[in-house]
Amino acid sequence: MDAGAPGEAVARARSRGLWRVYFNALTIPYWAIHVAAVAGVIATGFSWYGVLLAIAFYLPRMFFVTGAYHRYFSHRSYKTSRWFQFVLALGATCTGQKGPLWWAAHHRIHHKLSDAPGDLHSVIQSGFWWAHHGWILSRDLEGTDLSRIKDFAKYPELRWLNTYWMVPPIAVGVLTALVGGWFAFVWAFCVAQVLCWHGTFTINSLSHLWGARRYRTEDDSRNNPVLAMITMGEGWHNNHHHYQVSARQGFYWWEVDLTFYILRAFSLVGLVWDLHGIPDHVRDDAKSMIKTATADDAEPEPEPEPTA
Ligand SMILES: [Zn+2]
Ligand SMILES: [Zn+2]
Repeated sequence: MDAGAPGEAVARARSRGLWRVYFNALTIPYWAIHVAAVAGVIATGFSWYGVLLAIAFYLPRMFFVTGAYHRYFSHRSYKTSRWFQFVLALGATCTGQKGPLWWAAHHRIHHKLSDAPGDLHSVIQSGFWWAHHGWILSRDLEGTDLSRIKDFAKYPELRWLNTYWMVPPIAVGVLTALVGGWFAFVWAFCVAQVLCWHGTFTINSLSHLWGARRYRTEDDSRNNPVLAMITMGEGWHNNHHHYQVSARQGFYWWEVDLTFYILRAFSLVGLVWDLHGIPDHVRDDAKSMIKTATADDAEPEPEPEPTA
């Protein structure tokens, strides 16, 4: 990808047309797993046990995307050791969303140019399906601009994972089939993987369209409790655009943020530390808040002039 002109890379990719963006050599596994998930569920028959299995294998996948790729590698919202950093990278790479350096470098562009020309997956600039998964499937955006991720590109183990990002998800698929058989392959691998892809992608597409805006950010990001449940806390996306470095995206106790609870638990046992919080003056900054009109805000009626 041309480091200096991400907008040009998007325009070039989109100009190649639907077929080249969504159907190329690298998208074969992506669509094959979709087909296997649907065909597998039909073949094995609907099963609540299968649903539970899919959820059980969806949750760690989603945690690695949000807690590792997003909050750690993209935003450095907490610190950890080198070995646990590798565990985070490996777990996240298992989700089939390319390598850690690629993911974080692309995400940093999203925040730099949020919803402006050059944002690689802006629903406002490039439409719903491009923002949802066109940008990740297109081969034009396949390169990693290491200048955007120098802080992690210095680790050879991360560069290796970034190059051979297909190895971990293939290994997970093979292992799931070997250990659990056909039923586990369908539910714990294919169904959980498809749900993890589209759950993650809602943050690029839906969370800039659907929900409420608390803060007057430069972009169109929204807070949405439904998306927050699906993505283990990422749905508080307007909060996140307001204060990106925070390890918690639910800013109030009622804004459920499962990823943050897991990170807190990890910090209690010393796996991670220095979780960046949300300072009260940033959270409650009246100048950044989009005020909701209430009866109290209405212009007061002028006092009637006293009459003689
Ligand atoms: Zn972010
Ligand atoms: Zn965003």
